[in-house]
Amino acid sequence: MPFSRSALQPLTEELSRAADQGLSLPFWWRDDDAVHPSSKLERLIALTDRFGIRPLLAVIPAKASPNLANWLAEANADAAQHGYAHANHAAAGSKSCEFPDRLSTEEARNLLHAGRRRMDALFGRAWLPIFVPPWNRFAERHCALLPACGFKVYSGFGDAPTLPDGVQPANVHIDIMQWRPERRFLGAEVCLAALAREVARRRQASSSQNGTIAAPLGLMTHHLVHDEEAWRFLERLVEHLSGMPAVRWRSVVNFVS
Ligand SMILES: [Zn+2]
Repeated sequence: MPFSRSALQPLTEELSRAADQGLSLPFWWRDDDAVHPSSKLERLIALTDRFGIRPLLAVIPAKASPNLANWLAEANADAAQHGYAHANHAAAGSKSCEFPDRLSTEEARNLLHAGRRRMDALFGRAWLPIFVPPWNRFAERHCALLPACGFKVYSGFGDAPTLPDGVQPANVHIDIMQWRPERRFLGAEVCLAALAREVARRRQASSSQNGTIAAPLGLMTHHLVHDEEAWRFLERLVEHLSGMPAVRWRSVVNFVS
Protein backbone atom coordinates (compact mmCIF):
# COMPACT_ATOMS: atom_id res chain seq x y z
CA MET A 1 0.00 0.00 0.00
CA PRO A 2 1.80 3.16 -1.14
CA PHE A 3 -0.13 5.43 1.20
CA SER A 4 -2.55 5.16 4.06
CA ARG A 5 -6.15 6.23 4.20
CA SER A 6 -5.28 8.86 6.82
CA ALA A 7 -2.63 10.44 4.56
CA LEU A 8 -5.27 10.65 1.84
CA GLN A 9 -7.96 12.16 4.04
CA PRO A 10 -7.22 15.93 3.66
CA LEU A 11 -7.18 15.61 -0.14
CA THR A 12 -10.33 13.51 -0.17
CA GLU A 13 -12.10 16.01 2.07
CA GLU A 14 -11.11 18.98 -0.08
CA LEU A 15 -12.28 17.23 -3.25
CA SER A 16 -15.54 16.25 -1.57
CA ARG A 17 -16.12 19.86 -0.51
CA ALA A 18 -15.49 20.97 -4.08
CA ALA A 19 -18.04 18.44 -5.33
CA ASP A 20 -20.55 19.55 -2.68
CA GLN A 21 -20.16 23.11 -3.97
CA GLY A 22 -20.89 21.92 -7.48
CA LEU A 23 -17.33 22.62 -8.62
CA SER A 24 -15.28 20.64 -11.05
CA LEU A 25 -11.54 20.85 -10.79
CA PRO A 26 -9.46 20.43 -13.93
CA PHE A 27 -6.29 18.38 -13.52
CA TRP A 28 -3.61 17.92 -16.13
CA TRP A 29 -0.38 15.97 -16.44
CA ARG A 30 3.04 16.98 -17.76
CA ASP A 31 5.87 14.49 -17.94
CA ASP A 32 9.36 15.86 -18.60
CA ASP A 33 12.59 14.90 -20.37
CA ALA A 34 11.25 12.56 -23.06
CA VAL A 35 14.04 11.59 -25.49
CA HIS A 36 13.53 7.98 -26.62
CA PRO A 37 10.80 5.36 -26.39
CA SER A 38 11.49 3.13 -23.39
CA SER A 39 9.78 0.70 -21.06
CA LYS A 40 9.44 3.58 -18.59
CA LEU A 41 7.68 5.75 -21.13
CA GLU A 42 5.45 2.77 -21.97
CA ARG A 43 4.65 2.40 -18.28
CA LEU A 44 3.65 6.05 -18.07
CA ILE A 45 1.37 5.81 -21.07
CA ALA A 46 -0.13 2.52 -19.90
CA LEU A 47 -1.11 4.32 -16.71
CA THR A 48 -2.48 7.47 -18.33
CA ASP A 49 -4.33 5.40 -20.96
CA ARG A 50 -5.97 3.35 -18.23
CA PHE A 51 -7.67 6.48 -16.93
CA GLY A 52 -8.27 8.23 -20.25
CA ILE A 53 -5.65 10.91 -19.56
CA ARG A 54 -3.71 12.53 -22.39
CA PRO A 55 -0.43 13.83 -20.92
CA LEU A 56 1.91 16.45 -22.35
CA LEU A 57 5.43 15.13 -22.89
CA ALA A 58 8.14 17.80 -22.58
CA VAL A 59 10.67 16.66 -25.21
CA ILE A 60 14.35 17.70 -25.13
CA PRO A 61 14.86 18.66 -28.80
CA ALA A 62 18.63 18.19 -29.07
CA LYS A 63 18.50 14.75 -27.42
CA ALA A 64 15.30 13.29 -28.83
CA SER A 65 15.44 10.53 -31.42
CA PRO A 66 13.28 10.03 -34.54
CA ASN A 67 12.08 6.86 -32.81
CA LEU A 68 10.32 9.03 -30.25
CA ALA A 69 8.38 10.78 -33.01
CA ASN A 70 7.36 7.42 -34.51
CA TRP A 71 6.31 6.19 -31.10
CA LEU A 72 4.36 9.36 -30.30
CA ALA A 73 2.37 9.06 -33.51
CA GLU A 74 0.72 5.96 -32.01
CA ALA A 75 0.45 7.22 -28.43
CA ASN A 76 -2.30 9.14 -26.66
CA ALA A 77 -0.02 12.03 -25.68
CA ASP A 78 1.09 15.46 -26.91
CA ALA A 79 4.60 16.85 -27.26
CA ALA A 80 6.05 20.23 -26.27
CA GLN A 81 9.52 21.77 -26.55
CA HIS A 82 11.59 21.37 -23.39
CA GLY A 83 14.38 23.94 -23.81
CA TYR A 84 17.01 22.99 -26.35
CA ALA A 85 19.57 20.55 -24.89
CA HIS A 86 18.67 20.71 -21.17
CA ALA A 87 22.14 22.19 -20.71
CA ASN A 88 22.97 24.27 -17.68
CA HIS A 89 24.13 27.80 -18.53
CA ALA A 90 23.80 29.23 -15.03
CA ALA A 91 26.78 30.70 -13.21
CA ALA A 92 28.65 28.35 -10.88
CA GLY A 93 26.82 28.17 -7.59
CA SER A 94 23.48 29.28 -9.07
CA LYS A 95 20.50 27.02 -9.59
CA SER A 96 20.52 25.07 -12.85
CA CYS A 97 19.00 26.97 -15.76
CA GLU A 98 19.31 26.73 -19.54
CA PHE A 99 18.01 30.29 -20.09
CA PRO A 100 19.49 32.37 -17.26
CA ASP A 101 19.69 36.14 -17.15
CA ARG A 102 23.36 36.01 -18.09
CA LEU A 103 22.50 34.50 -21.49
CA SER A 104 22.29 37.28 -24.11
CA THR A 105 19.01 37.84 -25.93
CA GLU A 106 20.68 36.65 -29.12
CA GLU A 107 21.91 33.43 -27.47
CA ALA A 108 18.49 32.75 -25.96
CA ARG A 109 16.75 33.37 -29.28
CA ASN A 110 19.19 31.06 -31.09
CA LEU A 111 18.53 28.26 -28.61
CA LEU A 112 14.77 28.67 -28.86
CA HIS A 113 14.92 28.63 -32.66
CA ALA A 114 17.30 25.67 -32.78
CA GLY A 115 14.91 23.76 -30.52
CA ARG A 116 11.95 24.62 -32.72
CA ARG A 117 13.74 23.55 -35.88
CA ARG A 118 14.62 20.22 -34.28
CA MET A 119 11.04 19.72 -33.05
CA ASP A 120 9.73 20.48 -36.53
CA ALA A 121 12.22 18.04 -38.07
CA LEU A 122 11.21 15.31 -35.62
CA PHE A 123 7.47 15.81 -35.29
CA GLY A 124 6.43 17.90 -38.29
CA ARG A 125 3.16 19.54 -37.27
CA ALA A 126 2.44 16.95 -34.61
CA TRP A 127 3.70 18.94 -31.64
CA LEU A 128 2.18 21.82 -29.71
CA PRO A 129 3.68 25.36 -29.62
CA ILE A 130 4.27 25.08 -25.88
CA PHE A 131 7.58 26.00 -24.27
CA VAL A 132 8.62 24.16 -21.10
CA PRO A 133 11.89 25.55 -19.69
CA PRO A 134 14.31 22.98 -18.25
CA TRP A 135 14.31 23.03 -14.43
CA ASN A 136 11.19 25.23 -14.77
CA ARG A 137 13.47 28.26 -14.87
CA PHE A 138 13.45 30.94 -17.54
CA ALA A 139 14.83 34.45 -17.00
CA GLU A 140 11.99 36.94 -17.11
CA ARG A 141 13.66 39.11 -19.73
CA HIS A 142 13.68 36.20 -22.20
CA CYS A 143 9.89 35.81 -21.99
CA ALA A 144 9.51 38.58 -24.58
CA LEU A 145 11.15 36.25 -27.14
CA LEU A 146 8.44 33.59 -26.92
CA PRO A 147 5.77 34.99 -29.30
CA ALA A 148 8.25 35.76 -32.11
CA CYS A 149 9.70 32.26 -31.69
CA GLY A 150 6.23 30.86 -32.32
CA PHE A 151 5.23 29.81 -28.80
CA LYS A 152 1.65 30.29 -27.69
CA VAL A 153 1.89 28.64 -24.26
CA TYR A 154 4.47 28.70 -21.46
CA SER A 155 4.54 25.89 -18.91
CA GLY A 156 6.58 26.38 -15.75
CA PHE A 157 6.06 25.45 -12.12
CA GLY A 158 3.89 27.15 -9.50
CA ASP A 159 2.10 30.43 -10.03
CA ALA A 160 2.22 31.65 -13.61
CA PRO A 161 4.69 34.45 -14.42
CA THR A 162 3.80 37.61 -16.28
CA LEU A 163 3.79 36.60 -19.94
CA PRO A 164 3.80 38.68 -23.12
CA ASP A 165 0.64 39.12 -25.16
CA GLY A 166 -0.19 36.03 -27.15
CA VAL A 167 1.36 33.59 -24.66
CA GLN A 168 -0.83 31.75 -22.17
CA PRO A 169 0.29 29.95 -19.03
CA ALA A 170 -0.19 26.21 -18.42
CA ASN A 171 1.76 25.62 -15.26
CA VAL A 172 2.27 22.55 -13.13
CA HIS A 173 2.06 22.62 -9.35
CA ILE A 174 3.01 19.23 -7.95
CA ASP A 175 6.44 17.62 -8.35
CA ILE A 176 6.52 14.07 -7.01
CA MET A 177 10.33 13.91 -6.93
CA GLN A 178 12.86 15.14 -4.41
CA TRP A 179 15.99 16.28 -6.26
CA ARG A 180 18.37 17.18 -3.45
CA PRO A 181 20.38 16.07 -1.56
CA GLU A 182 19.53 12.82 -3.33
CA ARG A 183 17.13 12.12 -6.17
CA ARG A 184 14.21 9.99 -5.07
CA PHE A 185 10.44 9.94 -4.70
CA LEU A 186 9.36 12.86 -2.51
CA GLY A 187 7.05 10.68 -0.44
CA ALA A 188 3.31 10.10 -0.46
CA GLU A 189 2.47 12.24 2.55
CA VAL A 190 4.26 15.34 1.25
CA CYS A 191 2.74 14.96 -2.23
CA LEU A 192 -0.77 14.40 -0.90
CA ALA A 193 -0.54 17.38 1.47
CA ALA A 194 0.63 19.60 -1.42
CA LEU A 195 -2.25 18.38 -3.58
CA ALA A 196 -4.76 19.07 -0.79
CA ARG A 197 -3.39 22.62 -0.44
CA GLU A 198 -3.66 23.24 -4.19
CA VAL A 199 -7.24 21.96 -4.27
CA ALA A 200 -8.13 24.11 -1.24
CA ARG A 201 -6.65 27.23 -2.88
CA ARG A 202 -8.74 26.73 -5.98
CA ARG A 203 -11.91 25.86 -4.11
CA GLN A 204 -11.64 28.88 -1.85
CA ALA A 205 -10.83 31.22 -4.74
CA SER A 206 -13.58 29.99 -6.97
CA SER A 207 -17.07 31.22 -7.30
CA SER A 208 -19.60 28.46 -7.46
CA GLN A 209 -21.73 30.45 -9.88
CA ASN A 210 -20.58 28.73 -13.03
CA GLY A 211 -19.47 25.50 -11.42
CA THR A 212 -15.95 25.54 -12.82
CA ILE A 213 -12.53 26.45 -11.48
CA ALA A 214 -10.32 28.35 -13.88
CA ALA A 215 -6.75 27.35 -13.01
CA PRO A 216 -6.03 23.71 -13.90
CA LEU A 217 -3.95 21.83 -11.37
CA GLY A 218 -0.84 20.42 -13.02
CA LEU A 219 0.96 17.24 -11.99
CA MET A 220 4.62 17.01 -13.06
CA THR A 221 6.43 13.69 -13.41
CA HIS A 222 9.77 12.47 -14.82
CA HIS A 223 9.28 8.94 -16.13
CA LEU A 224 13.01 8.23 -16.52
CA VAL A 225 13.85 8.68 -12.85
CA HIS A 226 10.83 7.27 -11.00
CA ASP A 227 11.65 4.53 -8.56
CA GLU A 228 9.14 1.76 -7.88
CA GLU A 229 7.68 3.71 -4.96
CA ALA A 230 7.00 6.71 -7.20
CA TRP A 231 5.26 4.54 -9.79
CA ARG A 232 3.11 2.81 -7.21
CA PHE A 233 2.18 6.16 -5.68
CA LEU A 234 1.15 7.52 -9.08
CA GLU A 235 -0.91 4.44 -9.88
CA ARG A 236 -2.75 4.65 -6.59
CA LEU A 237 -3.13 8.44 -6.77
CA VAL A 238 -4.57 8.51 -10.27
CA GLU A 239 -6.99 5.73 -9.44
CA HIS A 240 -8.17 7.67 -6.40
CA LEU A 241 -8.41 11.03 -8.16
CA SER A 242 -10.25 9.54 -11.10
CA GLY A 243 -12.90 8.20 -8.74
CA MET A 244 -13.59 11.63 -7.22
CA PRO A 245 -16.55 13.46 -8.82
CA ALA A 246 -14.86 16.90 -8.67
CA VAL A 247 -11.82 15.79 -10.67
CA ARG A 248 -11.78 16.36 -14.43
CA TRP A 249 -8.67 15.19 -16.26
CA ARG A 250 -7.94 17.52 -19.16
CA SER A 251 -5.37 17.51 -21.91
CA VAL A 252 -3.51 20.80 -22.24
CA VAL A 253 -5.31 21.58 -25.48
CA ASN A 254 -8.59 21.72 -23.55
CA PHE A 255 -7.58 24.81 -21.60
CA VAL A 256 -5.32 26.73 -23.93
CA SER A 257 -6.45 27.95 -27.30
ZN1 LIG B 1 13.67 18.64 -17.60
